[in-house]
Amino acid sequence: MSHEHHATRRVGQVKEVTSLSNPIVKDIKALSSKKMRDETRSFMAEGLKLVIDALELGWTIRTLVYAKNVKDKPQVVQAATRAFARGGLVLEVSEKVLSSITRRDNPQMVVGIFEQRFTALKDVRPGADETWVALDRVRDPGNLGTVIRSVDAAGASGVILIGDSTDPFSLETVRATMGSIFAVPLVRTSVAEFLAWKKTAGVSVVATHLAGAVDYRKIGYRDKPVVLLMGNEQSGLPDELAVAADALARIPQAGRADSLNLAIATGIMLFEARRHLLTLDERS
Ligand code: SAM
Repeated sequence: MSHEHHATRRVGQVKEVTSLSNPIVKDIKALSSKKMRDETRSFMAEGLKLVIDALELGWTIRTLVYAKNVKDKPQVVQAATRAFARGGLVLEVSEKVLSSITRRDNPQMVVGIFEQRFTALKDVRPGADETWVALDRVRDPGNLGTVIRSVDAAGASGVILIGDSTDPFSLETVRATMGSIFAVPLVRTSVAEFLAWKKTAGVSVVATHLAGAVDYRKIGYRDKPVVLLMGNEQSGLPDELAVAADALARIPQAGRADSLNLAIATGIMLFEARRHLLTLDERS
């Protein structure tokens, strides 16, 4: 064993894996199914920067996987040390194994398996300058990931998933968040629970609707913390949610399109609502 090799194994617990049929590799690959993600309450995130950010934000890492050829990178060594310190498993694998885990020809050299995290709705008590997004039965992983990323970028506080939604911890959604999955609190709830919460949370629910009565630029976003309520991609907001809203906002459209894409509409609403709170202006 070379000295260099020895140095990277200083902790003595790195598992070297080159076989695709290794049981740990199989377990990680099984996380592509929602059932397994639910059962193990874990998910996969790709990329060294993401993994480092997640560790810094205090997320619990179950397994760190990296390609043998990056084992000496100081950041990889540091991530491995942290993973060990928190009781995680560390795997040093061949690129072939990484390709198989991530189902990509050119995989990221570092992958982390983390514990999922949800915030309970009862613990969400928004302060005056907070903006939340509530999504009704969001279906598309790309839309959900893009919304989470936009919430992060706009300085909003979190995302409430109402009803039967796509899994925020699927690989596709996590990829689309570009790392914001680790920065944005997520809540899962039902229509009934959301409506009950609204009664006591002191928030103003601004629902977006194609038949909305008010131009989205004419809404007072400053009076109370705002929850931007967005409808399902296919069917829009159901009446039981629309009638409970404090305002129904419309983004005026030109042209032939019936509606805007859900994530685009959410982005427009977010930056308008946040603009009224000055936070973004102060930052620039
Ligand atoms: N066929 C659906 C309908 O009739 O509502 C279209 C839904 S649209 C793709 C998804 C969501 O994006 C809508 O429920 C709404 O929340 C928001 N949205 C899209 N375009 C909008 C607009 N011009 N004004 C307000 N909200 C809009």
